[in-house]
Amino acid sequence: MSSAQAHVVSPSAIEQKPPVFRCLYCDLEKPKSESTLEHAIPQFLGGAQAPLHYKLRNVCVRCNSILGLHVDASYARSWTVTNGLAVAARKLYIGPGGIPLPLVCMGIIQNMPGLAVPEGMAAEYWIGPSGESIVWIRSDNDLMYWYSGGNPIDKKTKPSTLYYLPTTADRLGFQMAMEAFNDAFKKAKARRIFGAEFLDAPAGTLYPGFDAPTDAERGNLEAIQQAIANGLIDAQARFNIRFEDRFICKMVLGVGYSLFGEPFLDTKTAKQARLGLWPSQAQTSQLRGAGSFGGADATFSSLSGYPGAVVIMVLRTGHHYAMSVNVDQKMPFTTELAPGTLSSPHINSDHGYALLLFPQLRHPVELELPTMLAHKLGNQAHPDLALVDVKAQQAEAFNATLPPLPARPPSTAAKSPTVS
Ligand SMILES: [Zn+2]
Repeated sequence: MSSAQAHVVSPSAIEQKPPVFRCLYCDLEKPKSESTLEHAIPQFLGGAQAPLHYKLRNVCVRCNSILGLHVDASYARSWTVTNGLAVAARKLYIGPGGIPLPLVCMGIIQNMPGLAVPEGMAAEYWIGPSGESIVWIRSDNDLMYWYSGGNPIDKKTKPSTLYYLPTTADRLGFQMAMEAFNDAFKKAKARRIFGAEFLDAPAGTLYPGFDAPTDAERGNLEAIQQAIANGLIDAQARFNIRFEDRFICKMVLGVGYSLFGEPFLDTKTAKQARLGLWPSQAQTSQLRGAGSFGGADATFSSLSGYPGAVVIMVLRTGHHYAMSVNVDQKMPFTTELAPGTLSSPHINSDHGYALLLFPQLRHPVELELPTMLAHKLGNQAHPDLALVDVKAQQAEAFNATLPPLPARPPSTAAKSPTVS
């Protein structure tokens, strides 16, 4: 090509607009450069392992970041969901070295003699898989008062202090606990204070990754140890009863589009879901459905779920497809998903559809609903689910070797393990 030709631009190219896409969530036209990768099923529910059609590109940068913080996190960090996922993970956990167990959140410490909690901060109490205590003095945020762990952005950017009090000298239990602790706080901007002495090391020896306590931190550590020894930690969970409303609408849009494609975008269901996702005084969403605390009963939860799994079930009922989502056979929500006139390459509309995600195994199973039920009822084994069942049996055997999670805060009378 000559240099003269290289600079010629055709008139039509000058008039061409940059390519655009229609954002699934805000419904605005956005330049292609603002498209982001979106997991229609969020990662905390195992969505990163979901089949490819759940990985979307038609979500804008703005929606991705706003909804991640205010909608996904509102659900994921609500006390019930945080702890529901922790219980689910145990059902498929077979020991250290794999995906660490999540911690259990006990709530915000109300009143602990001798514990200094600066203005604007909260002391949050967590229990690890071997019963160890973790007190995290972190920034508090009125806007996100019900988030376990507070504002996820503050976690990475604002200074905080973690007090870690081990309970077991058993090597396996200690390793499991450290993995859980490190995973839970890997992104936290926090000083880490280790709350036990070593049996065979000089006083003041630091466990790797932990900090030497200041006098103030030593005072707090003593206050925590005293409270644990007395069995008196007054912690309270905080609740927001509307924590899931916007999340359910977001799931309807994400799953509806993943299963039914472009025709879904202009349905009444999608429109109502968008209204619920962006609530305003002027209009309320008419999306039909029921949340985790109403509607579904225990039989339905048990039938539509699977132990340790996040299950997304889609069924055509009357004029609509309905979706139910549940975690470990609990906390289900059920909602209308799409008009029954649509069809999906992924759903046999007579039989229904189920997607099982196992955040602990990174192992998705997508199948027809009767196939899942036949397996659960023992009528016909499904090979993938049979493998999961084997893991569940191994996990049950492993769990039997562990001390049960204490009903009350554990005592730290036991010495910590030695450093090898
Ligand atoms: Zn958007």
